[in-house]
Amino acid sequence: MDNVDRGSAEFRELLQMYEKMPLLELGQQADAVRWRNHPDPVVTYIIDRNINYTNVCVADCGFCAFYRRPKDREGYVLSYEQIGLKIDECKAIGGVQILLQGGHNPYIPFAWYLELMRYIKVHHPIHIHGFSPSEIVFFSERFNIPMPEVVQQLREAGLDSIPGGGGEILVDSIRERVAKKKAQTEEWLGVQEEAHRQGMRTSVTMMYGLGESNADRIEHLLRVRAVQRRTRGFTATICWPLQPEGTPMFDGVEKTDAVTYLRTQAMMRIVCDEIPSVQASWVTMGHKIGQLALRFGANDYGSLMMEENVVSSAGTTHRTTIGEIERLITDAGFGARRRRQDYSLIPEGDLLAV
Ligand code: SF4
Repeated sequence: MDNVDRGSAEFRELLQMYEKMPLLELGQQADAVRWRNHPDPVVTYIIDRNINYTNVCVADCGFCAFYRRPKDREGYVLSYEQIGLKIDECKAIGGVQILLQGGHNPYIPFAWYLELMRYIKVHHPIHIHGFSPSEIVFFSERFNIPMPEVVQQLREAGLDSIPGGGGEILVDSIRERVAKKKAQTEEWLGVQEEAHRQGMRTSVTMMYGLGESNADRIEHLLRVRAVQRRTRGFTATICWPLQPEGTPMFDGVEKTDAVTYLRTQAMMRIVCDEIPSVQASWVTMGHKIGQLALRFGANDYGSLMMEENVVSSAGTTHRTTIGEIERLITDAGFGARRRRQDYSLIPEGDLLAV
């Protein structure tokens, strides 16, 4: 376990920076790290589709407006054919990956997931970025299979990479309060490290605004940094604030503001300076702040997503088109380039005219 010493000089310095450094100075420091990692004035984006294969979940996270309890009439599980159709629609607009995530549904057998991977690879081949660490821990516990084996079996069946969903704040006192039935810090990071060990690349997230302290956020970043220093397996990181509307525990709570977002993203870039890419979260913050985020450490404008059920369940519905994304990036002073999941650029000649 990577213990974080909150009394250390470094910790106190980072906290001081987060809370006290003038906003633009903090942005400049994050921007400098961005240019060290990406010397070209290019901002990337990806076209993908978020497919939530089920909304049935027994984790009962206090911040989630998406899930339905088992037996709820609004609960669903998508069929392979429905998932295949969504993939075809995604590919038709130039999509190069799906983000496949779902609730912790106790009624789906493990064979269903493995067969789904194979079905997609045979009938609708596309990069599968799927199953957050929380889902993998759920599979391990539900099916009584050691976690590394769950990762290995999914990988052998066709899983390409793992998203950083369900990370929220990686401090157990916070997780116990808002998401005590799902992966705690060690387990969540353990899946990431195991995936890296098996040669997969993953992303990592931070959702803040759950009543945690600024020190908790810094601890989260230091825990992520420790894993990255060992494995180099994280390709990208992104942060966003809780969207409280309609959630069991936070409905009516005021959203954190844009300055907090910019400061948090800047700290993420500075502390996790060895994670190559930082995505701006225009989906939660809107395009104006999304553009500003490109001067606060971000080098990627995230994705043109065809669906984002979890965020839109909480009432946040920023939407866009390819042309608009490219214009926004250009207006912010960068060249816009479409990328693959591994952040490699798609040659202009290979782009679908959409
Ligand atoms: S965030 Fe995920 S794990 Fe938590 S209740 Fe929602 S669907 Fe379930």
